[in-house]
Amino acid sequence: MNEYERMLENAYKKIKVVSVGAERFTIPKVMGKVAGKNTIITNINDIASHIRRPVEHLAKFLQKELAVSGKLESSSLVLKTKLNSQKVNEKIEQYVKEFVLCYECKKPDTEIVSEKGVKSKHCLACGAKYPIKSKI
Ligand SMILES: [Zn+2]
Repeated sequence: MNEYERMLENAYKKIKVVSVGAERFTIPKVMGKVAGKNTIITNINDIASHIRRPVEHLAKFLQKELAVSGKLESSSLVLKTKLNSQKVNEKIEQYVKEFVLCYECKKPDTEIVSEKGVKSKHCLACGAKYPIKSKI
């Protein structure tokens, strides 16, 4: 095996470790910085794609829960206050519990369905279906 093949093999091993649908679903931690009076979350797109939800929806939830205005700017979310990352991570965890993980089997293989204006979380793994209380 040459150097290049070895490198590829290692790369594939790494991919397997983080694949979605693994036994333990992990939520990526936020990365970002405080700039002046703003907090900039630079990996919001990665988090949204990992949990397979629209980034706009996640951004809206965070703004409401953290009671702060903000906007999506290229691949970052700019929140107009100083926040510590722990606080943001907690809110993302809350988002995942509410909108992503199945209450029944705890798997992340769910989809949000809207029927007659009522949103529900439908689990593709076990078939459970729950109404979503949040108005976002
Ligand atoms: Zn389920």
